[in-house]
Amino acid sequence: MIEFSASQFKSNARTAVNDAGLRAKIKKATGTSLTKRQETVKEIPDWEELREKGHLLRKKVVDDLDRYQAAFTESAQSNGMVVHYAETHSDATKIIYDIIRRQSVRSVVKSKSMITEELRLNEMLEENGVRVIETDLGEYIIQLAGETPSHITAPALHKSKEDIARLFQEKLHIPYTDDPEELTKVARERLRKEFLNAKVGISGVNFACADTGTITIIENEANARLCTVLPDVHIAVMSVEKILPSINDLPLFLKLLPRSATGQRMTSYVSMINGPRSQYNPDGPRQLHIVILDGGRKQLAKHPAWKESLYCIRCGACMNICPVYQSVGGHAYGSVYPGPIGSVITPTLFGMQEAQDLPYASSLCGACTDICPVKIDLHHHLLWERHDIVDRGYKSFTEKIAMTLWRWVMLSPSRLEFAGRAGWLLQKIFAKKLPAPGWTPQRRFPKIARKSFRKLIQHDKDEYGSS
Ligand code: SF4
Repeated sequence: MIEFSASQFKSNARTAVNDAGLRAKIKKATGTSLTKRQETVKEIPDWEELREKGHLLRKKVVDDLDRYQAAFTESAQSNGMVVHYAETHSDATKIIYDIIRRQSVRSVVKSKSMITEELRLNEMLEENGVRVIETDLGEYIIQLAGETPSHITAPALHKSKEDIARLFQEKLHIPYTDDPEELTKVARERLRKEFLNAKVGISGVNFACADTGTITIIENEANARLCTVLPDVHIAVMSVEKILPSINDLPLFLKLLPRSATGQRMTSYVSMINGPRSQYNPDGPRQLHIVILDGGRKQLAKHPAWKESLYCIRCGACMNICPVYQSVGGHAYGSVYPGPIGSVITPTLFGMQEAQDLPYASSLCGACTDICPVKIDLHHHLLWERHDIVDRGYKSFTEKIAMTLWRWVMLSPSRLEFAGRAGWLLQKIFAKKLPAPGWTPQRRFPKIARKSFRKLIQHDKDEYGSS
C-alpha cells in the first residue's frame, strides 16, 4: 500500500493557513484560472448538456471496467503497443523498472503524470540508480526544489516568479532574473539536451480509446510530445478508468477538460498516439509500452456511491474553486490528490483511517460539485465519507459523547429551549475568557441571544396574530 501523510492534514493546514504569502500566491493563481474558465465556458451554450453527457460516458466505463479494459488492450495490441496490466502499485513500478533496465539506461525523460506521482515512480527509479528528468516546466521547478506538486494541473502554483528566480539561481547557478521569459528559456535549453540524449520517455495518458487503441495526451509545452516521440522507448502509464468507449467521445472531453482546467478553448498540443513506429509510420518510438494500473480502482468501482469519484478527468477546477484549498494549498492534504476530489478519493483508495480528516476539509458549500465538468457530486461524497468515518468508530470518545448529547437536545423543543437559556447564562461567565476551540485563538464564540428564534416568532404571533 502506498503511504501518504494525510493524517497530518490538521497540523499541515494550521501551518499553511498562517502563511499569508502562500495564501496570496494560491488565491492569485486559482483566481486567474477561474476567470479564464468562466469566459470560455460562457461561449458554449450547451455546457450543462455536455457535462451531463460527460458524466454518463464516464459512468458507462466505470460500470464496466473489465470489458473496456479488454477492448482497449485488444485494440492497442493490434496497433503494435505492448500492454501491461498492474494490479497493484508495486506491480506497476516493477513493470516500468524492468522495461527501463532492459534498455540499459541510467536516465529517463518524463512528462507530467499524476499516476506516476501516485506510484512514487521517481523515488523508486532514483533508488535504483535511474535519474528522472521532469520536463514539464512546473514539474521541473518542483523537482529542483525537492517538492511534490501542489495542484494536479499546475504543480508549482504555490511558487511566485521570485521564488523560481531564487531557485534557478541556487540550483542552476545562473544570475538572478525573475523575468518569466528568461527563466523559461533557461529551462528549455537545459531540457532540450536531455530530450536529445534520452532513450526512454515516460508519459501519462489523458484518455485511452477502447475502439481504436489511441492514447491521447494534452499539454501546452510540447514536452510530452518530445518525451513520446524522440526516445526509442515510450512508456505510457495510466490508471484503468482513463478509458473512453470510442474515439468519437474524445471531442466532448477535449471541450470539457481544457476549459475546466486552464480556461483554454484547446491546449496548445493534443497528441493522439496510435502505436510505435512502423513501416507506414516512420516516426515515433521503436517500442511503445502501456502500463495500466488498477491500484484498488476496480474494487472502488463496485461501490454504489463512491465509484463516482472514478469519473474524474483530473481538470483541477474543484481545487481552484474550493475555499479550503485556496486557504491551505495542496501540500497540506498530504496526498497526491489535493482539494475536494483528493479529499474524496484519498480515503477510499488509500485508507479511510489514515485520511479520516480529509472529508472534513470542506465547508460543504457545493461549489466543487457545481464546477465539476463531469458532474461528480463531490460535496455529498464528502458527507457520506463522514458518515462512514463515524460508523467505523474512528471518532474520539469525547466527540461521540458530545454528538450524542447534541442529538438528545435537538430532538426535544423543551430541551433545546433549556439548553439555550443555560448557554445564555454560562456565556456571561465564560465566553470572554475562552477562545473557540478548534478556531483561531483570535476568534470567540458568537453570542447566544437571550430570546431564542422560536420565542421571537411565538411572541410575534401572539402580538400580531398568526398571519
Ligand atoms: S472532480 Fe471534477 S472538477 Fe475535480 S478534478 Fe475531477 S473532473 Fe475536475
